[in-house]
Amino acid sequence: MAVENIIKETLKDITSAKKLYDEPMSRHASLCVGGKADALVMIENEEQLIGIVKRLIAKKIDYLPTGNLTNIIVRDGGYRGAILLMKGLKKTNHQYSPESGHTISAQAGASLSAVVSLALAQELSGMEFCAGIPGSVGGAVWMNAGAYGKEIKDVIENVYLLDASGEKKEMRREEINFEYRKTELPPRAIILGASFKLEKGNGEEIKKRITEIMKWRQEKHPLEYPNAGSIFKNIPGQPAGRIIEEMGMKGESIGGARISPKHANFIVNTGKATASEVLHLISLVQKKAREEKGINLETEVVIIGDE
Ligand SMILES: Cc1cc2nc3c(=O)[nH]c(=O)nc-3n(C[C@H](O)[C@H](O)[C@H](O)COP(=O)(O)OP(=O)(O)OC[C@H]3O[C@@H](n4cnc5c(N)ncnc54)[C@H](O)[C@@H]3O)c2cc1C
Repeated sequence: MAVENIIKETLKDITSAKKLYDEPMSRHASLCVGGKADALVMIENEEQLIGIVKRLIAKKIDYLPTGNLTNIIVRDGGYRGAILLMKGLKKTNHQYSPESGHTISAQAGASLSAVVSLALAQELSGMEFCAGIPGSVGGAVWMNAGAYGKEIKDVIENVYLLDASGEKKEMRREEINFEYRKTELPPRAIILGASFKLEKGNGEEIKKRITEIMKWRQEKHPLEYPNAGSIFKNIPGQPAGRIIEEMGMKGESIGGARISPKHANFIVNTGKATASEVLHLISLVQKKAREEKGINLETEVVIIGDE
């Protein structure tokens, strides 16, 4: 039986979750490219997620938790298994106690912008660097997202997980190893949420910083086209964008995929790009960087699925 049909059978009585079968990921990913997933499941609450995951594990069906799909390329051959879209898990809240100070807790599917807004409303400082990053809390924790010299690891307090056997688990910051755009969590863990430790600040200053960051992003990033943010990881002391620019590759394109003339570490979709075109352009940049500069450019964007 095709994986799609096994998933249909496995999840048929979970009627509370919306499921799309044989669904083109180009409809959901920020870069607007990507082949079909056997199933895309819209998760609405934790209980439902746990039920779904336990069934998928029992049937040995692959699954992948995702947030806003702003950092993923699904190859044109598609994804065999279930992509779990966590957007329904979007609660955020603020807690304060004299002993623990200020904390914002957020479920995995909450947008970073919701957390930034709540922090601003409570005049709490620490999340400003996340302004304009279009991802979810789960995606940002998984990627150890960062900007302007700060990373998620600097504000995280606890991460709440569902482990590979479908059991809930809590990890404190000290128990987690964070690297550049990578958080080491137990294999196949799904992030259910996280808490962030923030400091009381000055509301006007926090607002000013957020406005500055948003303006800077608007000016520097090609937000007028579908994109997935930075394609390559920076090399210490050498931003990937500068390396690509020095190689004269700004504006280079394959089909509908183009290295942005505005920011060389962005590949934009100028219309009808396919994942293969984006991936060819990525390979071309990597080849040139190796041959001309002896540099190994690693992708920041997560690439999954069949050729
Ligand atoms: C215009 C633009 C600007 C950007 N700027 C920045 C920036 O300044 N800094 C930066 O770091 N990134 C940036 N990004 C990239 C991206 O937004 C971040 O990496 C973001 O944190 C990804 O979140 P997401 O919800 O979209 O993750 P997705 O793309 O959905 O997933 C990314 C990875 O996280 C995993 N994941 C997602 N949710 C979960 C979960 N609940 N549990 C376990 N794993 C999960 C996925 O499996 C995948 O491996 C930018 C992207 C765009 C389009």
